[in-house]
Amino acid sequence: MSVATRDPVWPCAAVPLAELGPRTTLRVGGTAEWLLEPATPEELVEAWTAARERGYEPRVLGGGANLLLPDGLLAGVVLTTERLSRVFRPRAGGAAEGEAFAPALPALRVLERGEDARLVAWAGAPMPGLVRMARDLGWSGLEGLAGVPGHVGGGVAMNAGGRWGELWDVVERVRLLTRAGEVVERSRAECQPRYRDGNLAGALVLGVVLALKVDERAAVKERVADYLRQKSAAQPVTEHSCGCVFKNPPKERSGGLGAGQLIEAVGAKGLARGDARVSEKHGNFIVNRGHARAADVFALIREVRARVAQATGIELELEVQVWGEDPLRG
Ligand SMILES: Cc1cc2nc3c(=O)[nH]c(=O)nc-3n(C[C@H](O)[C@H](O)[C@H](O)COP(=O)(O)OP(=O)(O)OC[C@H]3O[C@@H](n4cnc5c(N)ncnc54)[C@H](O)[C@@H]3O)c2cc1C
Repeated sequence: MSVATRDPVWPCAAVPLAELGPRTTLRVGGTAEWLLEPATPEELVEAWTAARERGYEPRVLGGGANLLLPDGLLAGVVLTTERLSRVFRPRAGGAAEGEAFAPALPALRVLERGEDARLVAWAGAPMPGLVRMARDLGWSGLEGLAGVPGHVGGGVAMNAGGRWGELWDVVERVRLLTRAGEVVERSRAECQPRYRDGNLAGALVLGVVLALKVDERAAVKERVADYLRQKSAAQPVTEHSCGCVFKNPPKERSGGLGAGQLIEAVGAKGLARGDARVSEKHGNFIVNRGHARAADVFALIREVRARVAQATGIELELEVQVWGEDPLRG
């Protein structure tokens, strides 16, 4: 197992030749040349800057729940938000830029209910933990994210959500590191997030202010339980997957069918390459049944896409993010 070092080259903990597969929910992928593990948003900015100064274009890894990584070596630097899991209340009256993000409380858990139903979460706060925290406080707004794995930064970048709502519905402000190296705060209106796309122009999410609503505890709890029940009845939530592989095509083109239904209609459910298989439960999920390699998953994606295109004329667009050279071209 690789161990984080304090390599003098980097301003934070760093792991050379770090295994990436176990850091994704699909459990597929080789090693990163460097994995940097900043422990604060400031360290994240410093690590990003140091990587850029050394000629790297750093990638950012959240919970790895919507990622398909290549087999073998991934050259360059990966920044993980693993250690950036803090969640706290915004400082009372802290309206000035940056103020909300200054950690007012040292505690990891927000215990009292209060009337100001806002939370500040650093990029690596796990989504399931946030959903549970809001549920226990009786604050509504995150129920639609029940059962969605990953970190809040990845969720903001992907605009995670589904039929019961999207993460951006409750984003008051997001703190970003832009590609030009500037730290800025942006509102929803300024970002204009889209379907499964936070529309951040390659910026890195450092943290987010979530504005929830005070509600009845029992009602929030019931909604979370209900959505979780429905999700686990429809999706292979206990298997290794990367969530939905494809975006749903525009309804007017697909006759209202989602990507999973189109895949089922062309008989691609159960299709397998090596240990990768199109889920029998939901056509838009590919599951790793043991030792699948990225090459197996890419082969399946190509096959499913070709079948759907041939039968319907629809070119399915990837929702899952692919790192490395694009093996799906050609
Ligand atoms: C069983 C299962 C069910 C799922 N259900 C849903 C669902 O219902 N709805 C849904 O939308 N998704 C769903 N997903 C997909 C996944 O949970 C979401 O896309 C999630 O928001 C990804 O977050 P992450 O932290 O894991 O991001 P990662 O997979 O680590 O990264 C995804 C992309 O976001 C970028 N990124 C990550 N962190 C940051 C950051 N801090 N700043 C900028 N960019 C960043 C990465 O570079 C990458 O391009 C599901 C996945 C699984 C495995």
